[in-house]
Amino acid sequence: MRAEGIEAVRRILCVFPRYTSAFGTFEHAYPLTDGVGALMPPQGLLLIAAYLPKHWPVRFVDENIRAATREDFEWADAVLVSGMHIQRRQMIDICHRAHAFNLAVAIGGPSVSACPEHYPSFDYLHVGELGDATDELIARLARDTSRPAGQVLLETVERLPMTEFPIPAYELAELKKYLLGTIQYSSGCPYQCEFCDIPALYGRNPRIKTPQQIIAELDRLRECGMTDTVYFVDDNFIGNRKAALDLLPHLVEWQKRTGYVMRLACEATLNVAKRPEILQKMREAYFITIFCGIETPDPDALKAMHKDHNMMVPILEGVRTISSYGMEVVSGIIMGLDTDKPETGDALLAFIEESKIPMLTINLLQALPKTPLWDRLERENRLNHDESRDSNVEFLLPYDTVIDSYRRCISIAYQPEKVFARYEHLCENTNVNRLKVPASPESRSWANIKRGLIILRNIFWKVGVLGDYRKVFWRFAWRRLRRGDLEGLISSTLMAHHLIMFARAAVSGRQNASNYSLRLREAQVPAE
Ligand code: SF4
Repeated sequence: MRAEGIEAVRRILCVFPRYTSAFGTFEHAYPLTDGVGALMPPQGLLLIAAYLPKHWPVRFVDENIRAATREDFEWADAVLVSGMHIQRRQMIDICHRAHAFNLAVAIGGPSVSACPEHYPSFDYLHVGELGDATDELIARLARDTSRPAGQVLLETVERLPMTEFPIPAYELAELKKYLLGTIQYSSGCPYQCEFCDIPALYGRNPRIKTPQQIIAELDRLRECGMTDTVYFVDDNFIGNRKAALDLLPHLVEWQKRTGYVMRLACEATLNVAKRPEILQKMREAYFITIFCGIETPDPDALKAMHKDHNMMVPILEGVRTISSYGMEVVSGIIMGLDTDKPETGDALLAFIEESKIPMLTINLLQALPKTPLWDRLERENRLNHDESRDSNVEFLLPYDTVIDSYRRCISIAYQPEKVFARYEHLCENTNVNRLKVPASPESRSWANIKRGLIILRNIFWKVGVLGDYRKVFWRFAWRRLRRGDLEGLISSTLMAHHLIMFARAAVSGRQNASNYSLRLREAQVPAE
């Protein structure tokens, strides 16, 4: 359909901007790996790349790995860019660099879809998801690649059904350079948490692909060399529970057929803990991590933000239930809520101690456009657009009290002793509940063994010898080595090192305290 009647050949340069550093970007872990340079391949931009006419050459550059060069821009006829709000400056910078070569630049993705007015310098604004706006953009570029006289706004009215989505062009990305692979089954979420822009951007009625599409995508990822963890970037994996239950048996079959070549991860609401039939199948499909937006342990706060579904089971019980199926809970936490009190920080630290969740992305409340929170704060005249602040929210508590509390919490929660104690608990109480899987052919390959040895060498040298918390590390490492748990040693240390180093930077002010929770879905939503 998209290529009907299109004969012209256009060379398209797809550029993904650098992330702003955050708890969820893990860049402090990269130097310990064998060459990882970025978190996850951008699902949306690779989807667009696959959707372009088959005879159009496409070049993909992720600036988290390398910057687009003069040669890239000279090669291209037009440039496509996509990203989140926190990548705004970087996207505008890419636009200016492309304009220096007189190239037309189109921007799509979640940020421009919510705030087209933030991007006056771009030639084409693609607002909304893959659909008729995308077809129109392709048709215009096919006719003429020169920069239009004025900005052109293209807005998707008719979305392409997800069942017609092509397989993202994974082959364009160097998958080995990413910490995680990505895949997407559904889009949208039925809930309406006050701070979240997903329902407004992608709808409350989750749209889904077919299980056959997902299996074909997994096969393609495998062909492209992906053998590590693959993250379902769905806004809420159980947003449509029936769809999740339909998919899971196919995942189980695929894992059996391929020898459990990939570990799986996803985002889901904590009430998944009430669904043993889903958890059991997830365990069999070798899911090892679920990101749950716990947000706060305070029931009043959950009620106020319309996240009552987090209280369908007591939070700690929910975390333990998920762990009993061998899955680690990673949690998002927000500070600076209207319900926060001076003692909120202490309550949060007590929750972290008790839940023993190793990885929590703790962030200050930030109002995103297109959210009920934004609308309310606007009505209350509590949006502050001073960009030197750590949040655009006028908190009810004094600003300095909130910032001090945030810094105190992360400085304590991410002390090396505490981080490694929580990872020890994870290895002993969660990982042991995982499905026992045979070693896949890929994991037994020399390439994989060599990779593991390189990472171990880096960990032992950079953390065990040069690191300033090496004593804590070795206490943890010896226990793992005695149990023959190399995987626990490697994966825990990679994550722990990032959390410790990032928290130190944030506490010392070298890192903005308000890096809006880089909820992994937002990097990946398909609104290109
Ligand atoms: S925060 Fe999660 S559960 Fe709430 S609306 Fe957004 S995606 Fe849905």
